[in-house]
Order: sequence, then C-alpha cells, then structure tokens
Amino acid sequence: MERLQIIQGDITKCQTDAIVNAANTSLLGGGGVDGAIHRAAGSELLAECRTLGGCPTGEAKATKAYRLPCRYVIHTPGPIWRGGKAEEDRLLACSYRNSLAQASALGCKTVAFPSISTGVYHFPLHRAARIAIDTILEYLQAHHEIACVTMVCFDSVTLSAYQQALAETEQKHA
Ligand code: ADP
Repeated sequence: MERLQIIQGDITKCQTDAIVNAANTSLLGGGGVDGAIHRAAGSELLAECRTLGGCPTGEAKATKAYRLPCRYVIHTPGPIWRGGKAEEDRLLACSYRNSLAQASALGCKTVAFPSISTGVYHFPLHRAARIAIDTILEYLQAHHEIACVTMVCFDSVTLSAYQQALAETEQKHA
C-alpha cells in the first residue's frame, strides 16, 4: 500500500508530523531509539516527560519534539518478550494502534515508527513485523486522516523483516 512506506534510517532525522518512541513505562529515557530521541531532542523533552507520570505498556502519550525536526513525539512502551504467553502480541498491536490514535487526535498526517520491542525487549523480529504491518494497515484503512506511515528500520535485517511482512500481507489480500 502506498500509504505505508518501509525505509532504513534514523528516526531522529524524520520530518514527519510525529515520530513514535519505543519508550519504557517510566518515560524517563533509556537506551536504543529512546536514548537517540532524547539526545537529539535536548533536555526539555525529559523535563516534559517527567510531568507525564509514566505510561502503561501498550498505551501512548505525546509530547512536543523540541530540537527534533518533527512536531510531536508519541511515546509508547512496547511489551518485553516473556516467551509469548504474557499477551505480548496483543500489547504490541496496542502500542501501534494507540500511537496512531494519538497522532490522529493531534491532527498529524504523517507518522514514523521504529521497530517497537525488537531491540532490548527481544520480541521476535518476524513476529513483531507481521503484527506491526497488519495493525498499521488496518488503522489506515479505517482512518483516512493519516496520509502516510513510515516504518523506519535502523538496520538491514530489520528492514528485510518488515519488507517481507508487507509482501506476505499483500499476497494474502491479492
Ligand atoms: P525496545 O526496548 O522497544 O526493544 P530498542 O530501542 O532497544 O527498543 O529497539 C527498537 C528498535 O529501534 C531496534 O530495531 C533498534 O535497532 C532500533 N533503533 C535504535 N536506534 C534507532 C534510531 N535512531 N532510529 C530508528 N530505529 C532505531
């Protein structure tokens, strides 16, 4: 689908209306993409995050973007992989869906996502990619206010996994 793009890159460079941060439930910063976003945004981002009182897994909260080239950062803690029987699939879908709902509410037309939960949270990559792609496509079909979603994959292995998941979904619906 034209409205879903998959690219390799650094999400802190994205000039979309919103970027999504794979945060932790404290919203007080961490490693990986969370650390990169806080470094690029500057310390005011952490100051605003401190006022939010954390965020439960699968939910999403928005802040301003400060020195980032986007307008908003939408913070969502994805699930930590615990073997698959702790509602990880449902919670990962919630992270994508609730982030998109925040973007819609803020009037965003373009949104960029990192590969939520597949770094230090160890969600299996191909399984996460299928859930991400299916959830985003379902949301886009129901919500025309979002013009375009970009999946920003940091490395080529992640890029291949999301490209493959999109190809599988397109085949299923062909
Ligand atoms: P989680 O805790 O949700 O697993 P991580 O930040 O550890 O989050 O990893 C999520 C994904 O984000 C991984 O694929 C990681 O390589 C990727 N990542 C790290 N830095 C960036 C960045 N600057 N832009 C986009 N993706 C990034």
